[in-house]
Amino acid sequence: MPNPEISKSNTNINNLQDYFERKKNFDWWSDAFNQMDWLPGGGLNNAYEAIDRHVKNGFGDRVAMIWVGKNDEEEQYSFLDIKNKSDQFGSVIRGLGMERGDRVFIFMDRLPELYISALGVLKAGGVIAPLFSAFGPDPVRDRMEDAGAKYLITSPELRNKLNDVLPKIKTLKNVIVVNKNGRHDEVLVDGDLSYETLMESEGGKDFEIEPTSQYDFSIMHYTSGSTGKPKGVLHRHQAVVQQWLTGKWALDLKFDDIYFCTADPGWVTGTSYGIMAPWTNGVTQLIYEGGFGAQSWYKLIEKYKVTVWYTAPTAIRLLMRAGSEVVEKFDMSSLRFIGSVGEPLNPEAVIWGNKNYKMPIHDNWWQTETGAIMCANYASMPVRPGSMGRPIPGVEMAVIDESFNPLPTGEVGALAVRPGWPSMMYGYWQKDEMYNSRFKKGWYITGDQASIDEDGYFWFQGRADDVINTAGHLVGPFEVESALIEHPAVAEAGVIGKPDPIAMEVVKAFVTLNTNYEPNKELRRELIRFARDKLSAGVAPREIDFIDTMPKTRSGKIMRRLLKARELGLPEGDTSTLEDD
Ligand code: ATP
Ligand code: MG
Repeated sequence: MPNPEISKSNTNINNLQDYFERKKNFDWWSDAFNQMDWLPGGGLNNAYEAIDRHVKNGFGDRVAMIWVGKNDEEEQYSFLDIKNKSDQFGSVIRGLGMERGDRVFIFMDRLPELYISALGVLKAGGVIAPLFSAFGPDPVRDRMEDAGAKYLITSPELRNKLNDVLPKIKTLKNVIVVNKNGRHDEVLVDGDLSYETLMESEGGKDFEIEPTSQYDFSIMHYTSGSTGKPKGVLHRHQAVVQQWLTGKWALDLKFDDIYFCTADPGWVTGTSYGIMAPWTNGVTQLIYEGGFGAQSWYKLIEKYKVTVWYTAPTAIRLLMRAGSEVVEKFDMSSLRFIGSVGEPLNPEAVIWGNKNYKMPIHDNWWQTETGAIMCANYASMPVRPGSMGRPIPGVEMAVIDESFNPLPTGEVGALAVRPGWPSMMYGYWQKDEMYNSRFKKGWYITGDQASIDEDGYFWFQGRADDVINTAGHLVGPFEVESALIEHPAVAEAGVIGKPDPIAMEVVKAFVTLNTNYEPNKELRRELIRFARDKLSAGVAPREIDFIDTMPKTRSGKIMRRLLKARELGLPEGDTSTLEDD
């Protein structure tokens, strides 16, 4: 174990882990399904569970969403407001002829209308496919064509970005444009519909939720594209059961929390934990239209007294870079729990968080395909910096060898999950073969490599594609990257295996530097030495290149395949999710 455990986050859950132990043979999923508020006739609808249920139970007045715009505008919506508005939009989209299972794309900044229309579509039985608003026209077109999109909900600026591609999407029936508070005075493109006009003409009073079953499709997300072309992952309404439970278990959500999830609904974290988990738990969400900013985020936490904050390693590394001085300017004493997902969280980041936020950052692991958190550092258990925690109850996870047998403690192998968890994807859209290839001998193969320690904590090693084979050792890039970022000069590191005639591969690192550091030969030598001291000589990078920006997906993940392709002069493959430089 590289670092000592950090115990105690400021939580009032007592020993969740003990509770799980005591209820070892308990059927968590049946129990959770029983706690859902089924629709008359036995249906299940995730938007109903998230919003309407609270209204029915007398909590309509509670604030569901505090929305803060890019220019600090503020709006508040109660659960009743969101129920009424999403009913209204449900009527609108149904009135336009949307049928159960139709794919409705939402290409919008984080505006309240994104959430309202998404919930309305779900209530009316449609499938939402939200896309991150920074995408260019081609990635949008690719996804809409792939999924056979029927409707698009967007805003004027983003609509303009798509003017050339939309006519090519043959399945598309209607484009609905949200012109929030008349922010723009553009005239609608011919044939487009105005969200505001449609909503005005629709009372929504007689709206009835589509009697969706737990097995109906609800959300479609394209994966981040870290390892190759993004895949369209289909989820079903029943995923809500696990999103609700893991909101409690892994994010420690309680009814009175003010919760801030920094992920965009264009990625799975932004729907599973930016819509479903908080709202099914009746929590008030702070939704910020703007992007990353150390000052602006801290200011929001202070002003709205955020208690639970869910973010990602890429953001945490930027916050570290912004420094402790910025943290000290704000009163963040309301915070009591911080979670992280998306990439491995470097031990250094956990330790930095513990020092600066006065609590550890809780890493948890899951994928677009798993639909919800699978493995977590719970609030009540000591955090082991660098570990992704332990599987949630009801989920069986293992590290297996090439014959699909579990490996002994400490050995690195393929991370696998026993199929059957409620939020498991139903399929990859029109990629059955690829879907089937993920299931082997009773396991779902995640594509990640990990090991398990003697106490059952899981340790992520790298993506199967990224693991480096050097002189007979398997080296996970994460370990090397984590060592490098402990050096004060290094902001971020991406590590690859570079083909080598003798060692098969050698470890090569690409690093970005913190301000005030100059790339030069001495620093390179120093970093190599520094890494050698931390790691063994065989694992430390043989070569280090300084780069200005780390190639990342728009969801903030380091794209090692791109570093490798660039190094080897090979084609870059799908770059539709690549962040702009
Ligand atoms: P693609 O499948 O298109 O290559 P992706 O795998 O990055 O992209 P996502 O579903 O967004 O798409 O990400 C899931 C992956 O992110 C996991 O398989 C894992 O590699 C990584 N990941 C997420 N959380 C963690 C974590 N806590 N620790 C380590 N890795 C994580
Ligand atoms: Mg993946």
